[in-house]
Amino acid sequence: MAGKRLILMGPPGGGKGTQAKRLQDRYGIVQLSTGDMLRAAVKAGTPVGLKAKAVMDAGQLVSDDIMINLISERIDQKDCANGFILDGFPRTLAQAEALDKLLKDKGIKLDKVIEVAVPDERLIERITGRFTCGTCGEGYHDKFKQPKRPGVCDVCGGTSFTRRADDKAETVVARLKAYHDQTSPLMPYYKAKGTLEVIDGDRDMDVVSRDLERVLGT
Ligand code: AMP
Repeated sequence: MAGKRLILMGPPGGGKGTQAKRLQDRYGIVQLSTGDMLRAAVKAGTPVGLKAKAVMDAGQLVSDDIMINLISERIDQKDCANGFILDGFPRTLAQAEALDKLLKDKGIKLDKVIEVAVPDERLIERITGRFTCGTCGEGYHDKFKQPKRPGVCDVCGGTSFTRRADDKAETVVARLKAYHDQTSPLMPYYKAKGTLEVIDGDRDMDVVSRDLERVLGT
């Protein structure tokens, strides 16, 4: 299926960012991570970044208006024409409804909504241990995936690594609560539309990737 248009759902730390990056390479479609967009806005000190920073640091959700505008403008960009993976959006029912409307207005149809499901008790450990190469963005984990040579990125040889400000244990609890309260009602929403596929994300990353490819086809 050429030109896939997907939503990847799932809890924070459930591995959807990693899987979205792999799907981007596998299918030649763009990963639209709203978390990455917001972190870039915070770093650049844009008006959106200034508004979002405190909310993100508290593990809460940025306002629907900001998020809907951000994604609407992003989907209009040329690189999305061949397909995209929404990673981290929508996160509320209001965002899902706004997305339906804006896709309809733009004449775009979603192919699939996929939930990468991971039980809560696994998430805190997964989130609090993760870190990223500051040069190429490759993801690592204190327990599950250390660089082969300590302190040196396997992919690019970079030697500086970063941890997300909101990956602290205190903030993770708030992020999980936001997920359960505000995002999990989206599963029945998409199930009712018949577009939802659920994948077990509590397995080795490569096994999860193969399952995603099975669901998506060639
Ligand atoms: P993520 O990288 O997807 O875990 O997102 C990091 C943080 O960015 C979240 O905890 C929220 O504060 C904010 N964020 C990202 N996407 C959204 C969204 N669709 N709606 C509201 N807030 C969001």
